[in-house]
Amino acid sequence: MKTKSIYVHQIHFLFLALSMFLFACSKDNVTADVKSEDNTEKLVSYLETQGFKKDKIVLKGDNFILDGDVIISKEEVEKRVANDANPDRIPSGEHWRGAYLVSNTYNTNVRLYIDPAVPAAWRTAIQGAVNNWNAVNGTRLGMSIITSASGVYTRVFMGFESANWIARAYLPTSNGRPGVSVEINSNFNSLPASQKLFAITHELGHTIGFYHTDQTQGIFITGTPSVDANSVMNSFVLNWAGFTSGDVRATQILYPQ
Ligand SMILES: [Zn+2]
Repeated sequence: MKTKSIYVHQIHFLFLALSMFLFACSKDNVTADVKSEDNTEKLVSYLETQGFKKDKIVLKGDNFILDGDVIISKEEVEKRVANDANPDRIPSGEHWRGAYLVSNTYNTNVRLYIDPAVPAAWRTAIQGAVNNWNAVNGTRLGMSIITSASGVYTRVFMGFESANWIARAYLPTSNGRPGVSVEINSNFNSLPASQKLFAITHELGHTIGFYHTDQTQGIFITGTPSVDANSVMNSFVLNWAGFTSGDVRATQILYPQ
């Protein structure tokens, strides 16, 4: 059916969003050597270690369908397996930060301005993301949305690129200001609300200095857990289900009360 095939096409976009969705999302590209043998079982086991339940992993052609609506190609899973097996790879899963954080001058009230062209559904996600960060206990961090462009620190605006990033953001500046902007790719306007919320919460994490939990760029945040499959700062989008305890701990470490 046509509607369904269009839907599946959109889902492919969601998959594309899985591996690289945002700011500085560079990944090691390690290609698996063996492709001819049937390694399905091994790949399923790997996906299970990544937090997916076995009965929610379905192989369809060259793709795995995870949790009913996320498609990931076998090839991509093979790359991840190979990458994880690389002996030179620094163990990841901990939380990471950039060189600069938001200074105490700004971090109790990071002021965001939403460009008028931003659609309502994304506005809802931005407000939700601000609420998420404000709800983290034991930290001095605070954010707000202001309606005037003057006195703003972080501008949120729409962009478009036929590419696999949902949104991207700047890191804090060397003089302690939060990242100057978050750009949302209108190519992903049809993303489910829960994933919009996850994506914007993630982007605001970059604007206050977080790197990706599942990668090894940046400075390791000592005291964060060694495994955090659902961290909001992982490089792939999930449905929003709250911060992990690791996310909370990392935020408390970076911005203590
Ligand atoms: Zn990111």
